[in-house]
Amino acid sequence: MTKKMLRFVDLNQESPPKRETGKRKKDFNEIYKEFISDKAKEQSSRCSQCGVPFCQIHCPLSNNIPDWLKLTAEGRLKEAYELSQSTNNMPEVCGRICPQDRLCEGNCVIEQSGHGTVTIGSIEKYITDTAWEKGWIKPLQVKKELKQSIGIIGAGPAGLACADELRKKGYQITVYDRYDRPGGLLIYGIPNFKLEKFVVERRTKLLKQSGIKFIQNFEVGKDKSLEELKIDHDAILIATGVYKPREIEIPGSNLENIFPAMDFLTASNRKGLGDKVELFDNGTLNAQNKDVVVIGGGDTAMDCVRTATRQKAKSVKCLYRRDRENMPGSTREVANAIEEGVEFVWLSGPKRFIGNKKIEEVLVNKMILGLADSSGRRKPEIQENSEFNIKADIVIKSLGFDPENLPQLFSAKKLSVSRWGTIKIDLNTMQTNIDGIFAAGDIVRGASLVVWAIKDGRDAAIQIQKYLEEKSMQKDKSKAA
Ligand SMILES: Cc1cc2nc3c(=O)[nH]c(=O)nc-3n(C[C@H](O)[C@H](O)[C@H](O)COP(=O)(O)OP(=O)(O)OC[C@H]3O[C@@H](n4cnc5c(N)ncnc54)[C@H](O)[C@@H]3O)c2cc1C
Ligand code: SF4
Repeated sequence: MTKKMLRFVDLNQESPPKRETGKRKKDFNEIYKEFISDKAKEQSSRCSQCGVPFCQIHCPLSNNIPDWLKLTAEGRLKEAYELSQSTNNMPEVCGRICPQDRLCEGNCVIEQSGHGTVTIGSIEKYITDTAWEKGWIKPLQVKKELKQSIGIIGAGPAGLACADELRKKGYQITVYDRYDRPGGLLIYGIPNFKLEKFVVERRTKLLKQSGIKFIQNFEVGKDKSLEELKIDHDAILIATGVYKPREIEIPGSNLENIFPAMDFLTASNRKGLGDKVELFDNGTLNAQNKDVVVIGGGDTAMDCVRTATRQKAKSVKCLYRRDRENMPGSTREVANAIEEGVEFVWLSGPKRFIGNKKIEEVLVNKMILGLADSSGRRKPEIQENSEFNIKADIVIKSLGFDPENLPQLFSAKKLSVSRWGTIKIDLNTMQTNIDGIFAAGDIVRGASLVVWAIKDGRDAAIQIQKYLEEKSMQKDKSKAA
């Protein structure tokens, strides 16, 4: 019997669901242990300059990794920084939160040969943090101010990267966002222990100092329709991300203390930023001393379990309907969560939420994995008579996000969307079906990654510039005629 077959038999046998947990850590040495200069040099010099830069090929931004590693190894940090920032608007963010095991580092030739990857993400972070410390990063000095203006809806990484690139060319940029702070999911989604908030605030402050105008607490659809906004600008970028949480349709869903992941994470992030958060302060959205159950297996679920652990929950369990091998989340994140004491209850799906007004228990079905579905992953199926209960004071639902209904929200019925609700664009021009309106980031791709949002924002900037230059030329021609 092959190893794979053995696993299949094991998963289907009549046994309690497979659980995995590590020893609970008492204190956390947050994110990165100090990555000092000597270590950066040592790591950088491990790059074999292999000729076929698989790391670069697998970086969505095609960062020139081998060259900035070489410069770092030689101690030429300023040049390494210049090179690194030439393809990435937020290297210090990507260095911290890219799932490098799936991107650059996972494809490092040294990793492939079994000797452990060059720690590319940490070096990228180190180079850029050093540049901030040394004062090498300065607000843009635009050479020639242009008259044309671009309105960007959404201050997440896609909108910010596009704003930065277009401002470099001299355009007038206004970024609108419905939140009170810029950053999108960088500020209110991703937890502080992965991405410190000062890192995001430092970056957005720089963009403001570079002449980009930010209008916060402005919701397109409520404060102005898309059409009205279009009148104020020569082009518009929609970069609104995806925020509609996927629901679990089971009995008991209306019980108290069952929350969507973003409610839980936003409360925690706001607290970290020093805000007064009533629902946190009164204990509702605070996991301290509680039995917490998180449902889902993606990176957001990992952020929830790890946040709950840091809030000193009594116990934290993650229910996932497939097994570890078929989990969508980054393997590194799962390993971190296990190390921090989170208990994973694999092959388990909620059947009913039980409680008297408030959630008390989750009735769970054991699952088995059937044949592969259209996504290529084996489909979880309910195992008959396999129910068991898990105690819960809080349940956090983390089953992913869908786009909101933008045509309706923006009062823009003719805006074309896919059957999933993502905005349809021409992939060459990044323009929607409405002239002068472009789109980028998660609202086009569906929930994705920061590095892809940055890439899309940069690409959109190139296309918007082309569009505006053509418009100017047409105007000049018609004036001359
Ligand atoms: C909890 C969580 C953790 C994650 N962790 C990681 C990670 O570790 N690494 C990684 O690479 N990716 C991670 N991601 C994914 C990543 O955050 C997103 O892919 C990325 O932020 C998408 O960027 P965006 O600019 O398209 O959208 P967003 O970052 O979502 O920004 C969209 C902005 O648009 C604004 N907006 C929306 N509607 C309107 C409106 N009508 N009017 C005005 N403004 C509006 C929103 O307020 C928001 O600020 C995570 C996602 C989540 C939810
Ligand atoms: S941007 Fe992300 S994928 Fe690209 S080099 Fe940096 S950490 Fe790796």
